[in-house]
Amino acid sequence: MAERSYDFLMPSVNFFGPSVIEKIGERAKMLDMKKPVIVTDKFLENLEGGAVKQTLASLDAAGVDYVVYNGVEPNPKIRNIKEVKALFEKENADSIITVGGGSAHDTGKGAGIILTNGDDITQLAGIETLDNALPPLIAVNTTAGTGSELTRHAVITNEETHLKFVVVSWRNIPLVSFNDPSLMLDVPKGLTAATGMDAFVQSIEPYVSVDHNPITDSQCIEAIKLIETSLREAVANGHNMDARTHMVEAEMLAGMAFNNANLGYVHAMAHQLGGQYDAPHGVCCALLLPYVEKYNLIADPTRFAELAEFMGENTAGLSTRDAAELSVKAMKQMSDDVGIPQTIKEIGADPKDFELMAENALKDGNAASNPRVGTKEDIVK
Ligand code: NAD
Repeated sequence: MAERSYDFLMPSVNFFGPSVIEKIGERAKMLDMKKPVIVTDKFLENLEGGAVKQTLASLDAAGVDYVVYNGVEPNPKIRNIKEVKALFEKENADSIITVGGGSAHDTGKGAGIILTNGDDITQLAGIETLDNALPPLIAVNTTAGTGSELTRHAVITNEETHLKFVVVSWRNIPLVSFNDPSLMLDVPKGLTAATGMDAFVQSIEPYVSVDHNPITDSQCIEAIKLIETSLREAVANGHNMDARTHMVEAEMLAGMAFNNANLGYVHAMAHQLGGQYDAPHGVCCALLLPYVEKYNLIADPTRFAELAEFMGENTAGLSTRDAAELSVKAMKQMSDDVGIPQTIKEIGADPKDFELMAENALKDGNAASNPRVGTKEDIVK
């Protein structure tokens, strides 16, 4: 076996289960937070009994002051992180609590980055580019999901160039995360499907990544099995608490896995679709998954054949190549079953943009860990 060495990042403190949000006030005090900016959107802010109301109630009970920023947009933009920074400074805030899905967490991380590492975040795109710690950060997660509540990634869109880029640094990892699956029972079908497919892709890409190791493998395998048995159920009946619980556990496992084993061309390309057409990230990932993995499978057919088994396919008697092909069919089937669109045209993709998007995909922080080394022409195709 080849020698290997790696750093293994683990998120710090993660609370899971119904009513965990009651602990936020106490945790904020333990972190010496005097006045956090709550980073969220208007819908979640107004949701009766939702994560924002519960967060604020817990902070009130603990006597922790706060100020709310409710301008988070999907595929968060540079303008959003600048607005949070301005509010943070105007209100003499000292910390950040994000409440929402990946967009809220990444907006909070992005604001933290420019508060302590310089104003131009585009210069900080890449891996381990941050010299300074962010203000203390807590993440309350409401989708299952991106894993952003415990990852080192901040994904931001430059609204002028439409380029979606990633700042990957251990400094971005929130100090504490909260996941209460009961707050996800009313997530609509389409959002459940899109966010669940994101978690699915985030357990497949690290499994076949060139950076995988036995620890990330075990996280991916368990995440894939949980998603295989729970995502369709969560989409079919949002009030299935077992399915919701398993989906949150899966997205957390996937987040831990890709924090360490990284992702691949699905994410590198999905960022281009999301940045260019402002399309939902999970949908972009799901649309690309079967095509990218069909392209990738010659790089490591054995691992793709294993994926088929984790997805519950019967591979007995099949050649490795046939079992690997079956894994790609199973990925597409999952996507179809949960109602993801069939073509990138449906999210507005236009062939005139493909050359530039392909160039940018190869520069994306996720491209380097893809198992097959591709060219711009491969990506366009
Ligand atoms: P999102 O955060 O963009 O939220 C989508 C919509 O869902 C919003 O309108 C929000 O109000 C609504 N919503 C959120 N929680 C809800 C709830 N409990 N009930 C009802 N509605 C709810 O969606 P997302 O998929 O979680 O995040 C996508 C973003 O995260 C993309 O920008 C993507 O690139 C990024 N991302 C980041 C990482 C990371 O590690 N940082 C990983 C993957 C993706």
